[in-house]
Amino acid sequence: MKLSEFVGYGDKMEQLMRSVQAGRIVHALLFVGPHGSGKRTMARLFAQTMVCTGPVKPCGACPACKQFLAGGHPDVKLVRPEKKTIGVEEIRALIDALSLAPYESDRHIAMIEQAHRLTPSAQNALLKTLENPPGEVMFFLITDAPGALLETIRSRCQTVRLGDVSVELCARALTDRGVESKRAALLAGLAQGSVGRALEIDGDGEWMALRERVIASLEALGGPGSVAAAAAPLEGDKGGEDDMLDIMELWARDLMAVQSGAAPYEASDAARLGRSRLDGRALLQAVLLARRQLGSNVSWANALENMYFQLTDSGDNGRTRLSWQR
Ligand SMILES: [Zn+2]
Repeated sequence: MKLSEFVGYGDKMEQLMRSVQAGRIVHALLFVGPHGSGKRTMARLFAQTMVCTGPVKPCGACPACKQFLAGGHPDVKLVRPEKKTIGVEEIRALIDALSLAPYESDRHIAMIEQAHRLTPSAQNALLKTLENPPGEVMFFLITDAPGALLETIRSRCQTVRLGDVSVELCARALTDRGVESKRAALLAGLAQGSVGRALEIDGDGEWMALRERVIASLEALGGPGSVAAAAAPLEGDKGGEDDMLDIMELWARDLMAVQSGAAPYEASDAARLGRSRLDGRALLQAVLLARRQLGSNVSWANALENMYFQLTDSGDNGRTRLSWQR
């Protein structure tokens, strides 16, 4: 696949690549987009294009491309969370590796996946390297939660935002793959225009069941006394926290749409959204906080309960974040 073949992004990405090759931009790119939006694929294409020695890049056939595709290019360093977080030791090891001369290309490429899982000390170590790299190096940071990164890191990166492909484009891509058109519209909405995510949801009855459990849990949220009971059905679901937060974020966006008078993605949810006592904006903020807490090693059960308490708490202005039905 070539950069120009990336649905909806082709020209933008080709331009960006030309700037990179001409050395016109900062040496760090931050790939941002929802789960399934293709940001990792895009970052990998970028990296491959940079190491490729073929005439039309990325050729997929030259020795550098083959090494890269097999995961063994010596100048491409990949960091991803082995545990819940990426610690400072892993970043120090990366920096050590970057201080050696590259083997085959004229620079190193350092790719950090799920960068929101970098601990604060790892982010600080990385920040120093971004400010003063040990040699020629191009950083790719990939994340679906850029808010969990230090502002100082974000400001040193050029952001490449994915997931702007419209819901309609996504629905069309799905009908092209044989999905019935009404279902395609529903899936495209649920996946916020991400084709990858939509296909994942389509083949995934479990995801739809999880969605139902998550929404039921949010609906069970009343006063502070209801937090434990509302959270309990979701607490034991270890490993599903990213999906659950994605679902809550989509629900928050739908709530915000309905509460501002717009239509939700899924028309059949309209009545349910209208009945909700949750404020969409407050829910979205709570989801962002929970992601940040998970990134700094708070357990899922604690992050979830903190989130629910935040939603039932009175704000500074004395109003509750739930508008109670009395
Ligand atoms: Zn090549």
